[in-house]
Amino acid sequence: MEVTQIIAWIHRVMLTGLKPATDHLGCEWPPGSRRAMEAGSPFARQLLGAFAGFKSDLEARVLCHRLPRSYMHNFVCEHDLACVHLAHLQYGDFRSTAGWRTSAITHEDYMITSESSMSPWAEVPGWRKERNLDDTLHDIYQGIGPHLVASTIVHCILEEIPKCTLEKLDLKLKSLYTNSYKPWCRENKTDSAGNSFSGVKFNREKTNKTYPELGSVYKANEVKVIIFRAAFYCKDKLGSFQGRVRAMCLYSLASWIRVLDLAGGWLTNDEVESACKFGVQFLLCYQYLAGASLQAKVCLYKIITKFHYFCHMLIYMKLTKRNVRFDACWMEEDLM
Ligand SMILES: [Zn+2]
Ligand SMILES: [Zn+2]
Repeated sequence: MEVTQIIAWIHRVMLTGLKPATDHLGCEWPPGSRRAMEAGSPFARQLLGAFAGFKSDLEARVLCHRLPRSYMHNFVCEHDLACVHLAHLQYGDFRSTAGWRTSAITHEDYMITSESSMSPWAEVPGWRKERNLDDTLHDIYQGIGPHLVASTIVHCILEEIPKCTLEKLDLKLKSLYTNSYKPWCRENKTDSAGNSFSGVKFNREKTNKTYPELGSVYKANEVKVIIFRAAFYCKDKLGSFQGRVRAMCLYSLASWIRVLDLAGGWLTNDEVESACKFGVQFLLCYQYLAGASLQAKVCLYKIITKFHYFCHMLIYMKLTKRNVRFDACWMEEDLM
């Protein structure tokens, strides 16, 4: 028996609001036992329970739901045909004309796929694939964020110092931390300056053929603070057109975070509109920067699949008005 079958049974019982007459295998309780006597009585007065959502990181999501399309596959998305390998279905295209946007796979489509690629959660009453919730902790603070801030900061430095060697970059990052980031954190009363900056920690140690990315030594809450700091930093470096897009990119994500941080669990129409505007703006700026870097043959602004999942977060918010910040796995992660 799969654990999901037991989970499904629990959910069916919770929907009745009553203590069950049998166990999960359908066997009646021993006669005269407390369970037998209490069967059929309410378990929480008039309250019922129901399935609301599935929360996990991406790895657990792929395993638990046996996803045939995920960040581990060429087709990267549960919700459409976005992929790595076909030009017209690129997952990293966020324009309104992107090919994947017209290839949606609905839950109903999904339910007619073969049983072997079906999530065992399909047995849980109320589960739909959209109820596998996206998680800002993993998507943003442990995904998009580390790429965004490392690329934008390195990009600024490369523009500032002509013929910047790896040694110079390393020194500049270290001085940026000591002379700028650390004092700024102190000024703003956040204790997120535990990790200094360096070429190694920005994934630019031995060669400039690696995409900048903050190392995993930076905790999610530190990454969040660095996103805001990087937005201020890049605001003052608007020289080139790319510089202006870069500043806009960081400003947009920081604003998106701010809108959700100030809002409650359910967004007003204005909040949805403003969050989606900033979210899309962020993605388009990033896509532009990634494209420009690719053209210039420099390794900056890697587009990982989490950018695509962020795009779905925006679509989901527009549809449901849910503040996705409330579905993040901050608490769960601590327990692991
Ligand atoms: Zn995790
Ligand atoms: Zn998708």
